[in-house]
Parts: sequence; C-alpha cells; structure tokens
Amino acid sequence: MTATAAPASPHVMNTYGRLPIAMSHGKGIWVWDTEGRKYLDALGGVAVNTLGHAHPKLVPALQEQIAQLIHCSNYYHVPNQEVLGKKLAELSGLENAFFCSTGLEANECALKLARKFGHDKGIERPEIVVYENAFHGRSIATLSATGNVKVQKGFAPLTEGFIRVPLNDIEALKKATVGNPNVVAVFLETIQGEAGIVPMRWEYLRQVRELCDQQDWLMMIDEVQCGMGRTGKWFAHQWAGIKPDVMPLAKGLGSGVPIGAVVAGPRAANIFQPGNHGSTFGGNPLATRAGVETIRIMEEDGIVENAARVGAYLKQSLEKALAGVPGYVEMRGEGLMLGIALDRSCGDIQWKLAQAGLLVSVQADTVVRLVPPLIITEAECDELIALLLPVLKDFLA
Ligand SMILES: *Cc1c(COP(=O)(O)O)cnc(C)c1O
Repeated sequence: MTATAAPASPHVMNTYGRLPIAMSHGKGIWVWDTEGRKYLDALGGVAVNTLGHAHPKLVPALQEQIAQLIHCSNYYHVPNQEVLGKKLAELSGLENAFFCSTGLEANECALKLARKFGHDKGIERPEIVVYENAFHGRSIATLSATGNVKVQKGFAPLTEGFIRVPLNDIEALKKATVGNPNVVAVFLETIQGEAGIVPMRWEYLRQVRELCDQQDWLMMIDEVQCGMGRTGKWFAHQWAGIKPDVMPLAKGLGSGVPIGAVVAGPRAANIFQPGNHGSTFGGNPLATRAGVETIRIMEEDGIVENAARVGAYLKQSLEKALAGVPGYVEMRGEGLMLGIALDRSCGDIQWKLAQAGLLVSVQADTVVRLVPPLIITEAECDELIALLLPVLKDFLA
C-alpha cells in the first residue's frame, strides 16, 4: 500500500491524503486501529489530545456532562463558560474570552476584533500585519492571512487588508508599516506549527510588543497549536515574558472535544458589543466542560511541567541520537512541540513510521513533527525513539 490512498468513500469529500488505516480506540498515548494494530500516538490528533486517549479523570467528567446538558444556546448564561473564561484569564494574565469551536474561528474572531478596534479609532480600511509561512486556518479570511500559496490556490479573490513580513526581523516590520496610518494589529504564531516548527525569537517578540505599545496596535498571538501547555508553559509567548492583547486558542483546549477561544487583554476585552459576533455551538456546556476539566487535570497532575521536562528529554535524546547522521539538519521547537528538520523531502516517512507503529506528521515537506499528548513519560519517549530511529535512519541512508 502507498500513502497516496484513494478517497475513503464516494460519500466523503476528498480533502485529505489519508493513510489507509482507521483508528478504533485509544488509551493514554496509544491507539489501536480497526485491524487491532497498536500505534504510539506522537501526533495526538494534531496537537489536540492533550490528555491522551480515554483519560481516567476526563472520561467520567464528560460522561456526567453529556448526561446533564450537552448544548443550550447563548441566549442564556452558560456557567461552564464563565468558569473557563476566568481560568484562561488567570493563566494568561488577560481579561476575558469569546468561545467558538475551532482554530480558524478563533482567528476569524481575532481579525474581526482588530478591524473593529481600527474602526472605533476612525480607521476605515484597517490593515493587519501577518507573516511569511504563517498558518491561521482555511476560511476565506484566515487563508488570506495564511502565508502558504498551496492553501490559497484556487480560492481567490483573497481578503484584503494584510501586510506580510518575514519572521524575526524587526527592521522589516518597521519598514513595511512606516507611515501607514491604517495598521491596527500584528498577528503571529509564537512557534509556527504547520510551517515546520519554526519559532519566533523571544527577543523579537519583546520588540514587537514594544512596537505595538508605541503605535497603539493590537499584538495578536495565534496560540492555537503552541498554547495550552504544549511548549512547557501555559502559553508559548510566556517564554518571552510578554503578554498579547488577543490570543486565539483551540486544538489542545478541550483534549479532543471541539472548542476554540479568543482570550483578550484590557485593550481588546470590550471591543465587541452584543450583536457584533457570535457562534451557535461556541462555548456550549459540553465543550466548555472539556476545557475546564482539561485545565483542572493538567494542574492536578503537573502536566505543563511534564511537557517542559519530558519535551527537553525527548529533544536532547533525539539530538544526541541523530548527531552526525547524514540528512539530519536540526531539532526545533520547545516542550512537546518538536520538529526534526531534514535536508530532503520526507512525506513518505509518515506512512513508513505508521507501519512501524508510530504516528507523526510531515510538515513543510522536510520536517517530521512530534506533538504527542502532554501526559507522555520519559520511558514512553524511549519507546517513541526506538520506533522512530530505525525507520528514520533507514530512510536517510
Ligand atoms: C490548526 C491551526 C489553525 C486552524 O485550526 P482549525 O481548528 O483547523 O480551524 C490555526 N492556527 C494554527 C496556528 C493552527 O495550528
């Protein structure tokens, strides 16, 4: 079998190049397919399964919530939203949150906040700074903010109002915006995930923060992938000691239950008024319970510290094991958001590793991405490495 499998069914749109396996169930960092084969899940549903699979503390809490109330509309107060909003404000040092269901929706909300922030200041055509190779989602506005022509191809006309700059170059950012009174926000990922685990330098983030303060722009940080403890801090930008004004979250927030959020600081917390934004599913009792319980369990079990410690162990172990191997370039990333950069196309390795019992993804054609559940232990990392190395070395040989 090859990795370029045929569509799963004539009744499912052909939007993914799927591997020819189907997952049946999981436990911890392990999943089993419908044929009974076992895999170490180092992809975690793309940085979603924060607590792994069938977590013994999460499952009963969600069962209780499902039996009590799955959904009600935002015409009423939703207590779980209030609990989760307060918790996210505490952890981030920000103020309040808007709840939605996915990452692109959270980013769409951030873009609307930035535009309204501009309009409230009398700017009729607000512009937002975005980055090369950024990924913010696949709606028309978020794919326009995305810096990947493959994502944009076929969907023109794109949304206007974006200025694109290179990463980690404060002079380029100043030059691209100098004398432009329409700029309202800078929108970035602390560590670009889809682009192949490419970090912003902490010093650069501090420079952007300073510029945003000087210019009265919103600093908006897409932490959809790198947030929620993934890098060994609650939010990756905390490594730089800064705070954003607007922070979209999703992926890991509900440990697999779809939920997104936009967390806002004082400058953005009161931009929206009733009627400006909404979402039918956004913040429903089940989704927000998943967020509340995910954070509770993470705090009880020291999961963020685990991500920092075990992530550093995994990174160092792989650096040591791969040093001098021809074709290996570098390890990138922080905590349990890691990329193994190679000097060549390696798309095929995803299927080779799956056949060996390890789930990963390949990003930007040359980077093997590891984003396992944050509950992974050092011993399990040793198992991960034992599955990975023979296939990777054979591939590079
Ligand atoms: C995955 C991702 C998104 C999009 O999230 P969806 O839930 O797929 O819409 C946006 N930004 C970043 C940084 C992501 O990693």
